[in-house]
Amino acid sequence: MLVIAGVDLGGTAINYTLLDTNEQFLIKELFEHPAMSKEGPDVCLRQIEEGLGLAAARAGCSLDDIVAIGLDTPGPASSAGVLSAQGSTNFVHANWAGFDIRTALAGRLGKPVTYLNDGNAGALWGHFTIFGVGGDQTSVSAIIGTGLGGGVILGGTVVKGRSGFGGELGHVLIPYQSIRGTEGMRPECNCGRTGDLESVCSLTAIGKTLLPYFLTRYPGHPLGQMDIVKAAKLVRGMAEKGDSMCRDIFRAQAHALGLFFDEMVNTFDPDALIVGGGAIETGPEFQRWFIQQVRAAMPAQREEQTAIPIHIMPNGDTAGARGAAIEALRLVR
Ligand SMILES: [Zn+2]
Repeated sequence: MLVIAGVDLGGTAINYTLLDTNEQFLIKELFEHPAMSKEGPDVCLRQIEEGLGLAAARAGCSLDDIVAIGLDTPGPASSAGVLSAQGSTNFVHANWAGFDIRTALAGRLGKPVTYLNDGNAGALWGHFTIFGVGGDQTSVSAIIGTGLGGGVILGGTVVKGRSGFGGELGHVLIPYQSIRGTEGMRPECNCGRTGDLESVCSLTAIGKTLLPYFLTRYPGHPLGQMDIVKAAKLVRGMAEKGDSMCRDIFRAQAHALGLFFDEMVNTFDPDALIVGGGAIETGPEFQRWFIQQVRAAMPAQREEQTAIPIHIMPNGDTAGARGAAIEALRLVR
């Protein structure tokens, strides 16, 4: 049995998946093991190996059956899997700075390891669910979570970029002043830019910018009586139930995404646009409404491009591990 592993390493948990060479996933659900990243690379690599053995047992195979591993982690990291020498929020132990995690894991396991950052791994998963492995299609995925991640798959290959920052879609500037119903709003991103995609279209943007802005337009709204951090967490659920202000907030986010997708249509002429992430892990009705809003917000397209589909990415919580495994499968082939 030839098996490919996907290992999605986060700050606190490692998420695993296993894939056979017929592109069938051997673990359907979320399979997690503690990452213990705070204790540094030595402890964390041991955790990765230990969890991999448990995942293999769950799937009814052994570590010896695994021929390649796809690893993904949060960035910043180089395209070859060297974590930033400046450190990162998920890898705070001093020994992580400049650590070549891909080479270290390959050495420890004695098997080839591929590397992607988590956004690009999620984008590759979204691409795979539509096009499979081995095609030459192009897609752009926007994953709306705490931040705005995602990636670009160009002709079947992940765009990693010169320094590993390819597909940092959240920090692409958009003409935010043209978003309907947000006159005078000034969306600022943690990266220092004003008016990039993440500054409007992310869960962080709800608490930081959109909710405070829209509460001034809906005096007496129940969310105005609450702590803003708590209130921000309720916006998605209320939007799904039809609350007008919360729908306005998601409409503004959809408008931002529509403007961004229009930039991508004119840059890549892609085969598909894909939306994923926690923000739209909702019922299908709300997802359809959101995609309609995205489409409605896109400026008029050339006739040849009006049919570019916008898909919802399935299996959000396992997207990173699955995308990482697909990258390793590409290596094996
Ligand atoms: Zn930014």
